[in-house]
This record gives sequence, C-alpha cells and structure tokens, in this order.
Amino acid sequence: MSGTQPFSQLDPAKLALVRYPHPVLRGKTRPVEDFGETLDRIARRMLELMRANKGVGLAAPQVGLSLRLFVCNDTGNEGDDLICVNPTLTNPDGEVEADEGCLSIPGVTVPMRRAARITLLAQDVLGRPFERRADDLLSRIFQHEYDHLVGRLILDGMSEAVRLENRRAIRTLEEEYKRSVEARPRGAKPTARR
Ligand SMILES: [Zn+2]
Repeated sequence: MSGTQPFSQLDPAKLALVRYPHPVLRGKTRPVEDFGETLDRIARRMLELMRANKGVGLAAPQVGLSLRLFVCNDTGNEGDDLICVNPTLTNPDGEVEADEGCLSIPGVTVPMRRAARITLLAQDVLGRPFERRADDLLSRIFQHEYDHLVGRLILDGMSEAVRLENRRAIRTLEEEYKRSVEARPRGAKPTARR
C-alpha cells in the first residue's frame, strides 16, 4: 500500500507491519490533511499492532502509509497512548546513547546517540495542536519515530562493528523480502502485507 489511495477508502483493519527493506520505509511522507474518524481508526489500529508486537512506538510508513503520523506509549499503560499527527521536534538538549530496536527490523539492535530531552509539536486526530516536552525513553521514542517519517532507519548510522553484529539478521530480512516480492503474482499491486 503506497498511501496514494483515497484516505476514506482505507480499511484500517487491513493495515499490517512492513519490514525492512520494503521501500515504503525509505519513502517521503506527506502531511495528514484529513482529520477525524478514519485517521482515528488508523491510529488505533497502529497502537494495536504496536502493542501486539511489544513495541513502544510505530510510525505510519511501518504500516505502509506514507503519512506524517506516529503513535507511541512509553509506559505500557493504555492511558499513556499518544497519537502524534504532523509532528515536528524542537529544542533538543543533552545527549545520551542507548540500544534501539525497530519493529520493522526484528533481530537488529543498534546503539543510538539521541538528544536527552526534546520538545514535540504535533496535532491530535482532530487537528488540535499540542506540545510535549519529553526526556528519557519518550524523548528517544519521539526521535526514532520521527526518523521514520523522513525515511531514516537505525541501520543508517551503524559502525562497522555494529554492522557485523547485525549482519545475519539484516541479510535474513533482505532475503525474506526478496522471496516475498518474487512470490507476488505478476501484475499484482504491492501491498503492506508480507
Ligand atoms: Zn522503528
């Protein structure tokens, strides 16, 4: 699913995780312009997929949608679900390194240097703006998910040593993707499903 189909015709129930090296993970995202019920259902489906896969964040390209949208939850309590539409990040402060994984790149762990604190400016599903200053895990999640919206992955800054550690997992994902593309019937539209 390339995200080019009309928003209202999207069936959120059909959204599924896409994995590296699916090209949608490297594509450009466009701003969300349609607020309301469909957007809410998409975001709820993303939260469901995030939770089912034991993640703390999920960006729209990870379900095959080239939209500026991500969801996250840094505590595991449903009350802390956060839906971030058209987000931007400002006022980074400090720096801290920690290991990160990615639901689209299972089996791969990369130490990532991130701003220790950052401010998110975003909209909710109704288009109402909000602001959130974050530190610790939430700051890291914001930066990881924002990277997805500009086509950046944790693979991009790997040192040679980290690349070697993850080489097998990356190769497995590349081979799985190649097989899934080859198995697709001729002329079939690429979909978000694996
Ligand atoms: Zn990720």
